[in-house]
Amino acid sequence: MSDVLILGGGIVGLLSALELTQRGRKVTIVDGGSPPASWAGGGILSPLHAWRCSRFLNQLTVDGVARYRRLVDMLESGGYTQTGGLLNQGGMWVQGLEDELDDASRWATSWGVEHAFMSSADIPGKLVRKDLQGIFFPGLGNVRNPGLLKALRAYLCDRGVVMEHANVSAVSSVEKGAHVAAVDGRQWRADQAVICAGFGTAGLLEKMGVSLPLFPAKGEMLLYQLSPGDVSAVMLTDEGYLIPRNDGAVLVGSTLRKGDASHYPTVAGRYALERLAQQLMPGLVETKPCYHWAGVRPGCDRDYPYLGPLPHANGIYVATGHYRNGLVAAPASAELLVQGMCGESPFVDPSPYSVPSSSRSSSSFLRR
Ligand SMILES: Cc1cc2nc3c(=O)[nH]c(=O)nc-3n(C[C@H](O)[C@H](O)[C@H](O)COP(=O)(O)OP(=O)(O)OC[C@H]3O[C@@H](n4cnc5c(N)ncnc54)[C@H](O)[C@@H]3O)c2cc1C
Repeated sequence: MSDVLILGGGIVGLLSALELTQRGRKVTIVDGGSPPASWAGGGILSPLHAWRCSRFLNQLTVDGVARYRRLVDMLESGGYTQTGGLLNQGGMWVQGLEDELDDASRWATSWGVEHAFMSSADIPGKLVRKDLQGIFFPGLGNVRNPGLLKALRAYLCDRGVVMEHANVSAVSSVEKGAHVAAVDGRQWRADQAVICAGFGTAGLLEKMGVSLPLFPAKGEMLLYQLSPGDVSAVMLTDEGYLIPRNDGAVLVGSTLRKGDASHYPTVAGRYALERLAQQLMPGLVETKPCYHWAGVRPGCDRDYPYLGPLPHANGIYVATGHYRNGLVAAPASAELLVQGMCGESPFVDPSPYSVPSSSRSSSSFLRR
């Protein structure tokens, strides 16, 4: 029997499993709802406009590149992925007018982030539009998330983490820990369970009478296979963004449809993203995208996630609501969550992230 059941094998679940195994815990991951947002996402290692975000989100994201550098080094040195493929540290350029740029500069100074005001003409990249004003953060970048997930899964399997493919239907607190049931009839017990099922978390919590302000938010992306150097830095404008990978692939994103939990790409999404690609890369001319996909973000009505024990549910923890920032925040979120589960001193005050007691409705008490 495992010590901990992790329900959801997206980036938050995998990195929580990593933190737990590093502390000697036996872990089983149960995953099998819908395709993870962690696969579909762009992998920018910063919130889109971090200066518009809360301190609580920034605490989880500001050292995202450094955290991924350590993670990717570990995976590369173990032979789980090819050297130099996963992490792109070409920087991030953000379009803005005067007030926005002043806010961005103040934010960067206060969080110790290197930055310089720069026109888009001065950022490296042959294809990118050259007539916009903005700010450049040379220390930021992006991670190639699908490859990262694959490498992480292999790494965890080699360290004894059990991967179960099942769609979880119910989670409950029992006398000594947590009980989990799947749609196919299988059941598991462990001392602790973490519900980190992306948008699927909302449905599991609802069955437990817990209501958090979570919602699905669909996003579509396009990928163009270009050459290294055509786009060198993440480029964020008011209309959307470009994300360059090390092999020359460029992602164009993204659409945002709150309330939509469907996973299929749409014709309207494709047109919108192709138009955006032409705007941001006027030199593209006739090049067509190679891939078009969609994912569902675990939306939340605040900009930082819920992390911590579920009130009145012995042994059950939650890590959800990462919305647009789950990839960049996941290493810190997983560390904070697991520090709480293991009774260690947390690296930041965990109370702002905790699940409020009021989230459990009184009617749920009757249902129990
Ligand atoms: C288009 C797009 C672009 C994005 N760009 C970025 C970006 O640039 N930077 C960034 O930081 N973030 C980005 N994000 C957001 C980021 O991808 C998410 O916040 C993050 O991946 C959430 O991770 P998660 O592990 O919580 O959930 P997920 O990755 O969704 O994983 C949840 C897992 O739980 C499983 N599951 C669900 N229900 C059940 C169930 N009942 N039983 C068993 N398993 C279940 C699912 O199958 C899934 O595997 C983007 C998202 C999208 C869609």
